[in-house]
Amino acid sequence: MEKIKMTTPLVEMDGDEMTRILWKVIKDELIIPFVDLKTEYYDLGLLEREKTKDQVTIDSANATKKYGVAVKCATITPNKQRVEEYNLSEMWKSPNGTIRAILHGTVFRAPILIDSIKPVVRNWKKPITIARHAYGDIYKATEYRVPTEGKAELVFTDKDGSETFRKTIYDFECPGVIQGSYNKDNSIRSFAHSCFKYALATSQDLWFSTKDTISKQYDQTFKLTFQEIFDAEYKTQFEEKGIKYFYTLIDDAVARVIRSEGGYIWACKNYDGDVMSDMVSTAFGSLAMMTSVLVSPDGNYEYEAAHGTVTQHYYRYLKGEETSTNPMATIYAWTGALRKRGEMDNLNDLCVFADKLEAACIETLNQGTMTKDLVGLVSPGFEAHAVNSTEFIKAIRTNLEKSL
Ligand code: NAP
Ligand code: MG
Repeated sequence: MEKIKMTTPLVEMDGDEMTRILWKVIKDELIIPFVDLKTEYYDLGLLEREKTKDQVTIDSANATKKYGVAVKCATITPNKQRVEEYNLSEMWKSPNGTIRAILHGTVFRAPILIDSIKPVVRNWKKPITIARHAYGDIYKATEYRVPTEGKAELVFTDKDGSETFRKTIYDFECPGVIQGSYNKDNSIRSFAHSCFKYALATSQDLWFSTKDTISKQYDQTFKLTFQEIFDAEYKTQFEEKGIKYFYTLIDDAVARVIRSEGGYIWACKNYDGDVMSDMVSTAFGSLAMMTSVLVSPDGNYEYEAAHGTVTQHYYRYLKGEETSTNPMATIYAWTGALRKRGEMDNLNDLCVFADKLEAACIETLNQGTMTKDLVGLVSPGFEAHAVNSTEFIKAIRTNLEKSL
């Protein structure tokens, strides 16, 4: 069989630990035998980030802006323990945070569904994609533990030094707490554009929710910004695609999500997205089956798995033990990126290959061949047996070869 041709490279971001091990097996078994793979390779493994003083992360993000599509392996975000373990000269920042900041992107997370694993919520039939505005709000807030009686005020001074706003937050008669959060119009606008673009790209309705009835300036700004951008730039395209933009209050959204059958994107403010994405992914089954894509407002895409580097499995792997780490979300990062590359470059064969690789994954799971983490989640009446990661990937390859 002749290999499928590519014209523009993908930005390939390698990573750490167990997912780095799987990365190579996935490429060797499921991609390179079938695709004449073109990538611009960036090693975001912690050793290389240390060596380049994290310049490699910045370079990889800029390359994503240049080529439009990236695929990323999970990476270690250093903490104190990692600084010692890897003898780091600095506690380098989260690569995902750095890439997101450079692309001004929004992260969309969606579960991979299979027949034998039923969501905890019975009526969910299709994936629910959560878009989290990962900027500002309580994550960048200034807080103060009020120790005693006194007055807390909200003050704004413009750049010329004149005070244009002052209001009492609370006249404390006892100790308490205060918090000052902010967000920026350009960040909210980027968030809105990424959401509308991704809804169009995936032909799904877009839901957005805030608490604008209570938060009449802050959340209201989010609501109005989305509506204004939608009306001005996306309404016609949504109509042409037959998809809808739907705004509702966060509490109403939660109730509707639970009653729905899924199949839409739910855009959330930072905190709501943090909490709801954990709830939705747990209810769908497993973090190992959760895909993630960062979409920039100008239409660049970076695909990855939602999970981390699966450290505990890696330590067992280093001891020579067999591991049954689930490669599904990482394989889907590759299929997502290859399909997007195919769409951008008009390479239909590449899109078809991505579809077939995903179908081969699902077929393998439907045959009952799975990694350990999934076996325990299978509903009664379905066959399932656990295999190790390499056996699982080889079983996918067998199914893929039959379909090509
Ligand atoms: P994790 O790597 O997602 O793993 C947490 C646990 O979830 C694992 O121990 C495993 O449970 C289960 N799990 C996750 N993915 C799995 C898979 N593919 N197959 C089977 N089981 C899976 O999270 P973590 O242990 O909190 O973090 C490890 C490292 O990853 C950290 O250094 C963190 O900074 C990094 N991280 C990176 C990203 C990213 O690059 N996007 C995201 C999150 C975390 P069992 O042990 O019970 O089998
Ligand atoms: Mg969370």
